[in-house]
Amino acid sequence: MRTPGTTLADARDLLDGAEAVTFLTGAGVSAESGVPTFRGGGDAPLWRDVRNAEDLSHPDFLHADPRGFWEWMQYRRELVARCAPNAAHLAIAAFQATPGTRVEVVTQNVDGLHHRAGSRSVLELHGSLWRARGIACEHTHALLEVALPALPPPCPTCGGPLRPDIVLFDEFLDERVFQAAFEAVVDAHVLVVVGTSALVMPAATLPLRARRAGVKVIVVNPEPTPIDDIAHVVLRERASVALPFLLSAAAT
Ligand code: NAD
Repeated sequence: MRTPGTTLADARDLLDGAEAVTFLTGAGVSAESGVPTFRGGGDAPLWRDVRNAEDLSHPDFLHADPRGFWEWMQYRRELVARCAPNAAHLAIAAFQATPGTRVEVVTQNVDGLHHRAGSRSVLELHGSLWRARGIACEHTHALLEVALPALPPPCPTCGGPLRPDIVLFDEFLDERVFQAAFEAVVDAHVLVVVGTSALVMPAATLPLRARRAGVKVIVVNPEPTPIDDIAHVVLRERASVALPFLLSAAAT
């Protein structure tokens, strides 16, 4: 396979005239908003003294200690509520609003920052911190208020405990959301993969599926990732720097 391009001009060439562009974003797109990633932050604890995301965002923790699990969720919800969308979220939303190109946004993030930046119809592969569902009845409810009087909060439908409507490690994704994401990715002319370590399955398979379907793949990440090898262009740059340059030029 040929060496990927590495310049903004290489990436612009791919976007130039593309009728359908899909973004696949991960925790890195929100890093500059102040939302910590799970990887790439050295050996610092993620919360209290726990360093491993798989131990925290895991159903075993939810079931063994529902209150402790919700305290971890509340830490994340309060942190995200203090953050604002950054230039990368805003550039994607502005690009999506420009007539002439079909733009889809698929995210692994649960922070809601693409919505807050103004993006429409975001496919949230791993759910949202701003929704919850009854553990027993499975009814989904918006959970927009940050402060919660009781942990775990009660489900308005069944009265039992709510859980966040996010996909935990070792849980399955919502099949309809994943199928819609798959279609958005393989039907695109260009897939822009931003700020993901491409380690969390099955989301990490999407760039490979796109490549196999003939989609041009651009990776934006300051660090190497396992999907660099299949990319047509790799931009070793922060999302908030690369995307405004790339997308403002493409929209003109
Ligand atoms: P990850 O934490 O595994 O990897 C983050 C990636 O972002 C790394 O490759 C890093 O090099 C890159 N990155 C860091 N700063 C960047 C920047 N400024 N611009 C571009 N890239 C940057 O993230 P992941 O691949 O999304 O997987 C982690 C899982 O954890 C996902 O399922 C996600 O749902 C969840 N998560 C979500 C959030 C959030 O909602 N903001 C935060 C942490 C983790």
